[in-house]
Amino acid sequence: MNSALVVKYAEIHLKGLNRPYFERKLVEKIEEVLSDAHPRVVREQGRIFVYDLPEENMDEYAKRLQKVFGIHSVCIAACCEKDFGEITKAAIALMAPYAKDGATFKVFARRADKRFPLTSEQLCRELGHELLTAYENLKVDVHCPKVPVTVEIRQDLAFVYTGELPCAGGMPVGTNGKAMLLISGGIDSPVAGYMIAKRGVSLAAVHFYSYPYTSERARDKVVELAKIVSQYAGSFDLYLVPFTEIQTTIYDKCPSSETTVLMRRLMMKIAERIAKDCGAQALITGESLGQVASQTIESLAVTNDAVDMPVFRPLIGFDKEEIIDRAQRIGTFETSILPYEDCCTVFVPQHPVTRPSVQKLRESEALVDFEPLMDTAIRNTEVMTISHNLFD
Ligand code: ATP
Ligand code: MG
Repeated sequence: MNSALVVKYAEIHLKGLNRPYFERKLVEKIEEVLSDAHPRVVREQGRIFVYDLPEENMDEYAKRLQKVFGIHSVCIAACCEKDFGEITKAAIALMAPYAKDGATFKVFARRADKRFPLTSEQLCRELGHELLTAYENLKVDVHCPKVPVTVEIRQDLAFVYTGELPCAGGMPVGTNGKAMLLISGGIDSPVAGYMIAKRGVSLAAVHFYSYPYTSERARDKVVELAKIVSQYAGSFDLYLVPFTEIQTTIYDKCPSSETTVLMRRLMMKIAERIAKDCGAQALITGESLGQVASQTIESLAVTNDAVDMPVFRPLIGFDKEEIIDRAQRIGTFETSILPYEDCCTVFVPQHPVTRPSVQKLRESEALVDFEPLMDTAIRNTEVMTISHNLFD
């Protein structure tokens, strides 16, 4: 009996005329993450089928697809001729592990090929009967079966499977433009990057470091976080911007209560310039409303005022607990909580403004000519291509 992966898409079915484009992108992505096995990936009426994977590692290959945005779920299926006898043999083999505990099951059938001689209803009934005959311990439960046995009759073959692996959902990366993630070493920004990439957006990322106030290890931590995000978002460029001079200048020359918001504005300005240069159309931050003084509505308005690009803040309505939960699920949390200093924490004012005004902050920023400092920072920016081992 041959096995294949049956890939069910997430939201691609909503895409109307663009659908073939989204499907093609998804096929490319699947081919990429499974490329070491050289499988045959075939698109057919709302499904993608992956053939010729090594039988002994089907689980491992199916798991890799869990990180591909655009996929709703993956099933490891037995594939056979469109013949009721063959389908029955496949279903009996798949049910063997469940038979001795007297599991409950229900048969589901889908006929993409309406020429198949049995209707879906007949197929469910007849196959249910065959399974009950083969294993006397099995029972049918139509409401809450332990094992859903699904049969799909497609154009060339039939597929039988007994469960599905939930995947990341969203849309294939690269189908929805490009955005620049401001990534710190904290918990929030990697999650924010993940969430926007999930909407099909390719990423670039920028990190500001303040050596010697922040250590080499703080930088390594950001690179590590970026690598975890790239398991989902695909490879991307990380721009490492030296920020010490700007930060110490703000600290020396501007009102102390405003240092954090000013720093935010300058980070946004530099990020926007780099974004324009690399073709990114929006900025992404990990801010969440009210989490700290620099994330009140007024502070966010002041930050937005520094740039023209749209700023995406996917965590804006999330509680910290919800963000932590996501970080744990995507695998960034353990790295984020390593104890290295971020440049924001080094220069925190004792009494930060919580309701800054745009006008006042523009004036404070104008106390210093930041243009040459920003130019120097951008000139000394280092670019790293972030990628991960596709086959992990
Ligand atoms: P995070 O957990 O992402 O660090 P946070 O709750 O600690 O977020 P802040 O430190 O106020 O919040 O930072 C808000 C956002 O500003 C971050 O989510 C990130 O997008 C951006 N940011 C902060 N520090 C840096 C940095 N050193 N380099 C790049 N972006 C940064
Ligand atoms: Mg932070």
